[in-house]
Amino acid sequence: TSLLDRIERLDGDINSFVTVTRDQALTAADAADQARAKGESRPLTGLPLAIKDIFCTQGIRTSCGSKMLDNFQAPYNATVVEKLQAAGMISLGKTNMDEFAMGSSNENSFYGPVKNPWDRTAVPGGSSGGSAAAIAAGLAPAALGTDTGGSIRQPAAFCGITGLKPTYGRVSRYGMVAFASSLDQGGPMARSAEDCAHLLGAIAGHDLRDSTSVARVVPDYLAELDAPLDGLKIGLPKEYFGDGLDAEVESAIREAIRVYESLGAKVCEVSLPHTHLAVPAYYVIAPAEASSNLSRYDGVRFGHRCENPVDLEDLYKRSRAEGFGDEVKRRILIGTHTLSEGFFDAYYRKAQQVRRLIRQDFLDAFEEVDVLMGPAAPTPAFDLGAKKDPVSMYLQDIYTIAINLAGIPGISVPAGFAGKRPTEGRPIGLQILGQHFAEGQLLNVAHKFQ
Ligand code: GLN
Repeated sequence: TSLLDRIERLDGDINSFVTVTRDQALTAADAADQARAKGESRPLTGLPLAIKDIFCTQGIRTSCGSKMLDNFQAPYNATVVEKLQAAGMISLGKTNMDEFAMGSSNENSFYGPVKNPWDRTAVPGGSSGGSAAAIAAGLAPAALGTDTGGSIRQPAAFCGITGLKPTYGRVSRYGMVAFASSLDQGGPMARSAEDCAHLLGAIAGHDLRDSTSVARVVPDYLAELDAPLDGLKIGLPKEYFGDGLDAEVESAIREAIRVYESLGAKVCEVSLPHTHLAVPAYYVIAPAEASSNLSRYDGVRFGHRCENPVDLEDLYKRSRAEGFGDEVKRRILIGTHTLSEGFFDAYYRKAQQVRRLIRQDFLDAFEEVDVLMGPAAPTPAFDLGAKKDPVSMYLQDIYTIAINLAGIPGISVPAGFAGKRPTEGRPIGLQILGQHFAEGQLLNVAHKFQ
């Protein structure tokens, strides 16, 4: 109840929750108390959790930050929600996000922007901005997020928390509203790598209901946390330290890397030569997949339906015109254009070829080093309302987006503050990238820094 009261007191201003499930939380808390009394408690029993509003939750609104789904109550739970509830976690509610996870500032939400708890004139990042802000404000110790092009790592960086995007296929996407299906991946957000390890262990694994989830044993992520770092080879991609990188961010990241050297790691420079193509390739592939996924919102089966349609076409047109926000419409237009006959080869096929090159860059780098390190974002959190044109917003994703195209995992770890620290400063995130299924190593490396 103390967290629920805290949410009531503080979240009117921060706006990190879209729905608070007070009654369900209190019932689950009673069940957790009983389990404890019977000696049946497990590591996550009774721990509170916030869930990004992209995950289906049975009988509870699942809006995905959109007017289109404002009236939608999911008839079933996402696999990860089911797993965390089975592990005894108590859901506090659903967190705010950019509409259909499209954005890097949480300003694209139908429910209004989220404020960064460190500095309420700044954005919390996006699209999992509500989850990151809720943790930073002490409203929830842990949360679920999703990351299609940085949406776990960038808000984690902006809010001074830890967020992990797992390898594509490590965590089931069943019941996660689809944005770009070949890139989307759910993952943990929390205060520390250790807490992320607990959550990841509970949500990872094969799911018969998601054919892209991978049948591979889930390791004990906690057991790996304390392994020594002696001899760890860290690569610094030179493309991640170039023009456009804020000076305070760069010095915080270089400082963090010195800490790793002092822990016994070896550092060298590497190159990911196709980095400059990641943003353009992503902003062809992601909208293409989104335009296909979002065609299901037609005003017929579920979601927003316009008043008094005169015929079927009017129903489709007005329901979609009214239900979707500007950024979502922009992506649907881009996606239907690049997939259309005559443009497909020039855009979509080309972008898929670039995607392969980007993946190969990472595989080549991991021949030389164990992990890569760099900034999670080129700047600290920017001001609310500061980025008006979409391209400047898309460029926020320059360091996060490539790994989704490659399918590898990445984590963002708090690494200091820009500006007057720590009371008025804005947090900075160190990003650590690893090979496919190296989550255990990333958590270990992140844990050593904390
Ligand atoms: N900012 C990126 C976009 O707008 C990534 C979003 C995400 O990871 N869901 O598409």
